[in-house]
Amino acid sequence: MSHSALHVALTNRCPACGVGSLYRGILTLADRCSQCGLSFAAHDSGDGPAFFAITLLGFVIVGFATWLEFAFRPPIWLTLLAATLLLFALTPVCLRFFKSYLLALQFKHHRLQQEEDI
Ligand SMILES: [Zn+2]
Repeated sequence: MSHSALHVALTNRCPACGVGSLYRGILTLADRCSQCGLSFAAHDSGDGPAFFAITLLGFVIVGFATWLEFAFRPPIWLTLLAATLLLFALTPVCLRFFKSYLLALQFKHHRLQQEEDI
């Protein structure tokens, strides 16, 4: 049974069994699922996760900085510091989400299995 791409992206679990973790570090994919043995070696999302994260976080961070500036009129260094901290906090979360989502889509469309057969 495969899980939906959104479920995989939100839980960072294997798209095949839904139990094994996709990652062995913050952003490093595991070689294979610890539960069912599905290989993640064929997964290659390229720059996809970075593109989607930059696009989404650009809107979020600029929107946050604009809101902060107009709502509270803090010193500019405080706005930049707050926006930078928010960026550092959200970047790994977004990258993991989109990386997992793209991996789940590749699994759904049988790309992971096809690469293993070659
Ligand atoms: Zn698995």
